[in-house]
Amino acid sequence: MLKLSGKSVYKGIVLGPVTVLGKEDAQIKRTKITDADAEIARVGKAGEQAQAQLQKLYDKALKEVGESSAAIFEVHQMMLEDDDYLEAIHNMIRTEMVNAEYAVAVTGDNFSEMFAGMDNDYMKARAADIKDISNRLVRNLTGREDINDGNMEPSIIVADDLSPSETVQMDKEKILAFVTVHGSTNSHTAILARMMNIPALIGVPIDLNEIHTGMKAVVDGQKGEVIFDPSEEICVEVEKRVREEQEKLKLLQSLKGKENVTLSGKTIKIFANIGSVSDVGYVLENDAGGIGLFRSEFLYLGRNDFPTEEEQFQAYKQVAQTMAGKNVVIRTLDIGADKQVDYFNLGKEDNPAMGYRAIRICLKQPDIFRTQLRALFRAAVYGNISVMYPMITSVEEVRQIQAIVSEVKAELDEKEIPYKTPEQGIMIETPAAVMISDELAEIVDFFSIGTNDLTQYTLAVDRQNEKLDDFYRPHHKAILRMIKMTVDNAHKCGKWVGICGELGADPELTEEFLRMGVDELSVAPSMVLKVRKAVRESEV
Ligand code: PEP
Ligand code: MG
Repeated sequence: MLKLSGKSVYKGIVLGPVTVLGKEDAQIKRTKITDADAEIARVGKAGEQAQAQLQKLYDKALKEVGESSAAIFEVHQMMLEDDDYLEAIHNMIRTEMVNAEYAVAVTGDNFSEMFAGMDNDYMKARAADIKDISNRLVRNLTGREDINDGNMEPSIIVADDLSPSETVQMDKEKILAFVTVHGSTNSHTAILARMMNIPALIGVPIDLNEIHTGMKAVVDGQKGEVIFDPSEEICVEVEKRVREEQEKLKLLQSLKGKENVTLSGKTIKIFANIGSVSDVGYVLENDAGGIGLFRSEFLYLGRNDFPTEEEQFQAYKQVAQTMAGKNVVIRTLDIGADKQVDYFNLGKEDNPAMGYRAIRICLKQPDIFRTQLRALFRAAVYGNISVMYPMITSVEEVRQIQAIVSEVKAELDEKEIPYKTPEQGIMIETPAAVMISDELAEIVDFFSIGTNDLTQYTLAVDRQNEKLDDFYRPHHKAILRMIKMTVDNAHKCGKWVGICGELGADPELTEEFLRMGVDELSVAPSMVLKVRKAVRESEV
């Protein structure tokens, strides 16, 4: 039995088998070999395995998401047979007498860099594919688990760290909990865990060599503990607590269909945050009044090329239709910082949170922005969509956005493509936006306060830095005053204002937000009924 503590991101409790995910790049060691033919044969066998895995993924994707999205797995199958790529690997094994894992990883990096440096956009985008197939081969060579392998049973995922793009690709049905050695409680991986409603612990000092796939573990989000190989006694106690948790959840279910009204009759909207079309199920299941934040950038993560206008249109349309007239606030892409996508070729930055991200990319690379706006405006015909722009710091940025929006509308008019101009608002997540919220309120339709970034920028605390978790204090007076100021300025202009950062879901602050007059709280679907309970118990 091995008991370790960490920081809890979602306070559930679960007992189940473990799946250990290795770190893709870091564990590949260069070792000297004596039999080159045997190493080359290992590459051949890993390649055959990869072909079979890709075929399975192709078949699954074809059924679930259609031919155009499935095609990428066929491309990967072809790339795996590419003579230049295979020859480069074989050659490195023979001339340097190194192990297959190392030769595959280095060749993958070299080819991927070569593609990334090409002028042709199509070839550039293949850089990420080469990386993907090389990682697959390395995984097969080392016998590491592939989270997307269709045969994996539902498990507790244990990893060194998880990026948002890895997390977003996971089959949610297969994840009982996350446990990671690194990561910060405010990262998007943590946010995704909350969204999926699964227990998650981060910052757990695990030696990944001491544990293995298949062993049993308990993840206790309440106590912030993970126990590997738990005793029979602990398992019995945990099973009892799991049943109690389920009872509590059942009690919350009785709040479904009830109004978000305080004891003195004040009402507030409670909406939900989502990251993908499939999350809409959680929104409806938890009786949210609408979607207050659809993080559209997740449509861009975990893939090898930009989603097309048509793919985006279908996704937004499906969400709008499923929500059947309820408001759906879709945020334009907020790529950058921890949400990295290879094919954007953003390059390395010393300070990515303050770097080239979100609206800055959209204003500098307007073609990417225009594609998304066209898809959004076309989808607005099918429901009650609002569009929201992230990381705003100035009136000029809003003016530039408005100019691009006018061009997009003119283009749609000219081509006689049906569309609707949605309500358009901005995120208030920089101190600059708060301080000029009086001016901004005059030129937008609504505000949504992003307390995650607002806390990061106001307190000068990198939300990704696990060492700073104790300094990341969203209850800080400065943040609460900023929220109040934003609400007052919005209301002076007759505009509505919501909170879509994680703080909106904090029941300790629900009364305060009601007192400030916040119009909407958008929270993880799993928090909707808990916040409703806090509202209904409030005297405000
Ligand atoms: C925020 O910053 O509070 C927010 C909602 O956006 P994200 O967490 O995606 O940066
Ligand atoms: Mg943000």
